[in-house]
Amino acid sequence: MGDTGRFVIQKHAARRLHYDFRLEVQGVYRSWAVPKGPSMNPRDKRLAVAVEDHPLSWGNFEGVIATGYGAGTVQIWDRGTYRNTSERAGEPIGIAAALESGHATFELRGEKLRGGFSLTRLRRKGQDSWILQKLRDTDAEWEGDILLQRPGSVESGRTIEEIAAKG
Ligand code: MN
Repeated sequence: MGDTGRFVIQKHAARRLHYDFRLEVQGVYRSWAVPKGPSMNPRDKRLAVAVEDHPLSWGNFEGVIATGYGAGTVQIWDRGTYRNTSERAGEPIGIAAALESGHATFELRGEKLRGGFSLTRLRRKGQDSWILQKLRDTDAEWEGDILLQRPGSVESGRTIEEIAAKG
């Protein structure tokens, strides 16, 4: 199915810095914490640990979480829409079914991330671990690091340090 939805990536300076990758699926944001952040290079396999679903409204949050779970600074690093391109046995399947099966592909249309990506579940005890990887297409970037090239917020233009300083 060519189903579509929103996606958002929130850079999160919590106890450990990570990027929260969120895909709109059936009215919520399915979420993964990506310690090294996304890459536009198909050679990079980025660990993505599945975390709890978040409400769609959370995707608009940028600022400082003072205390408690997730305490730290949140920056809206990228956002946009995606189109599900997942298949099983050569037939299109919905994004929810694809994620359930442990392998999904989708095209991102963000302000920074573009083109095809895959999420593939690893078989590992304890954590619900996945790999987020850029697909080999015309949007792939074989050199450079988009995290360093495009550090600013797509909401405010601020770096996460500037958000941390002013809230
Ligand atoms: Mn987080």
